[in-house]
Amino acid sequence: MTQTAEKLTFGADVSRLLEIVAHALYSNRDVFLRELISNASDACDRLRYESISKPDLAKDDSKFRIHIYKDADYRTLHVVDNGIGMTRDELIENLGTIAKSGTRALMEQIGKAQDKDKLSLIGQFGVGFYASFMVAGKVEVISRHAGDAQTWHWESDGRTGFEIREATAEEQKLIIGNRGTAILLHINADASEFLIDEKLKQVIQTYSDHINAPVYLSDPAHAAKDEDPVNKASALWMRPRSEVTQEQYREFYNTIGFGMDEPLVTSHWRAEGKIEYSALLFVPMLRPWDLYDPSRRNAVRLYVKRVFITDHCDGLMAPWLRFVRGVIDSEDLPLNISREMLQHNPVIAKIRNSVATRILTDLEKIANDDPVLYGTFWGQFGPVLKEGLYDAVEHREQLFKVARFYSTHDNGKLTTLSDYVSRMKAGQDEIFYISGENIDTLKNSPQLEGFRARGLEVLLFTDTIDDFWLQQVPEYLGKTFKSITKGSIDLSKFPGSDAAAEKPAEKTPEIIKLAEILKDILKDDVSDVRLSDRLTDSPVCLVAGDNSVDINMERVLKIHQKYEAKSTRILEINGKHPLILRLAHEKHDSAGLSDAAHLLLDQARIIQGEPLPDPAAFARRMANFMEKGLAA
Ligand code: ADP
Ligand code: MG
Repeated sequence: MTQTAEKLTFGADVSRLLEIVAHALYSNRDVFLRELISNASDACDRLRYESISKPDLAKDDSKFRIHIYKDADYRTLHVVDNGIGMTRDELIENLGTIAKSGTRALMEQIGKAQDKDKLSLIGQFGVGFYASFMVAGKVEVISRHAGDAQTWHWESDGRTGFEIREATAEEQKLIIGNRGTAILLHINADASEFLIDEKLKQVIQTYSDHINAPVYLSDPAHAAKDEDPVNKASALWMRPRSEVTQEQYREFYNTIGFGMDEPLVTSHWRAEGKIEYSALLFVPMLRPWDLYDPSRRNAVRLYVKRVFITDHCDGLMAPWLRFVRGVIDSEDLPLNISREMLQHNPVIAKIRNSVATRILTDLEKIANDDPVLYGTFWGQFGPVLKEGLYDAVEHREQLFKVARFYSTHDNGKLTTLSDYVSRMKAGQDEIFYISGENIDTLKNSPQLEGFRARGLEVLLFTDTIDDFWLQQVPEYLGKTFKSITKGSIDLSKFPGSDAAAEKPAEKTPEIIKLAEILKDILKDDVSDVRLSDRLTDSPVCLVAGDNSVDINMERVLKIHQKYEAKSTRILEINGKHPLILRLAHEKHDSAGLSDAAHLLLDQARIIQGEPLPDPAAFARRMANFMEKGLAA
């Protein structure tokens, strides 16, 4: 049988990835073996699952295994498995392109990152098979999909492309029996250590001890019947905690495809009772790059009685815990369950709830034991966990225990809601908050002035999700949440720290008249102009009406949903501000008053961080005023 090889070029993303691999990964080349073993093990897992419904596929050899051995004459390292194997199309698709979504975005991140960070990004992505080119100048893959008659040969130097053709009879002998994959790495001169058995053994034991399939250091064609595998080959998550070392947990965490970071939480437990399952789950320290990618796969693998079922079971993890990685192994689900039916299985829902409770308990513990470390974690994942406040009523109480918020209380420090409540002033029955784009703008908000003057603490919310969960959560410990940029607020019952703040602005007839005049001038832009309790230093601020959308919510909606509703905001004026007093008490021509009204409104908008609807008009009015000011 002779067949000409077909030459194909790599997808653009692969070429870039290979370039990055070649330049950035030198620090820890051992991981290539971890990647190949992990692929081999996945292939075994997948065939094990397939053969539940199609027993014929694995019937001639049901002992799934991985063999790793060298051929010193050719300086090749062989990684062989009798898993599912690949068809010709699969070889092209899996090893010639990067099918995963979001890859381009990741590539851009990698391209921009410093060299030292590249490794971690690549690790997150799991550079996978391409890691082979860190140690090999040429890689051959011989593969036959279980149940197929043809064996294929794929080959590449990891530069521009690859060749694919049918495997020769000699090459076919390199796979185990009639299925699976053999990977032949032509080891570079500077990587000769990977041709030494001791080195291989050490790397396998470090990285792949927990792998489900046994790994042998021998040529499958000449393997001794009673050979011992070099790994333990038992599912790590089924071992008792006392028998697993921290290193093993960490290696497992790295293998299941996250970064090079230490996990914040390692949770390993066995649930018994109404539902039975084992779980080994990790909460990462660093945010996965695709946390907000809607097509992101669930990062938790589902096993049923040690058989791998799927790594994207929708509904297995609460969406607000989508950063959790690891394995859940159920005893209750039927082995032959179809992947499509999983999502609606009540067992999955029960596991999801039980797992969420457990993870939140572990997070709460860390939050109490090490607030600083927890603060870092919260900075990365807080916005995601807060999605749970929005839609997981059953976990809300626990979520509030782990939730942290910025507040005006202790500059820059995070607080819990219960601490906020414990600091509330006598007579205060609402939890005050302000939400906006970032902490610095919020801290300078004019709406805060009156609260600050009276020593009233205000929470500062800066995540988009905040405005949404606040709609769903009316109260905490019986205290309602109250936005300080919305509706009327009566602060007169709270004594201020200085006399000026304490004394409310007088509602003189002149001020009332001014408010009316301004309201008339600005009637197209605001629904009302009124005297404010909120202000001490600034002349004006904007607030939302009692029954309308809050100020920041409106901004968010405008960005995300092209919200066009006519605004019903209110302009509040500071009855003690010299500018307002002069406007109220001195005579002005109507043009001057109109300019002043619009400038005040624009000023309030600017402080709010909003674009001005008519910047040219603003500039013209401003120039008028400056001219008058200079002339005087
Ligand atoms: P990942 O494992 O994250 O999907 P890899 O680059 O490691 O990425 O592998 C790409 C794909 O190639 C795998 O998803 C799998 O479909 C296929 N593959 C790689 N190695 C094997 C193997 N030994 N047997 C079967 N399929 C494999
Ligand atoms: Mg892989």
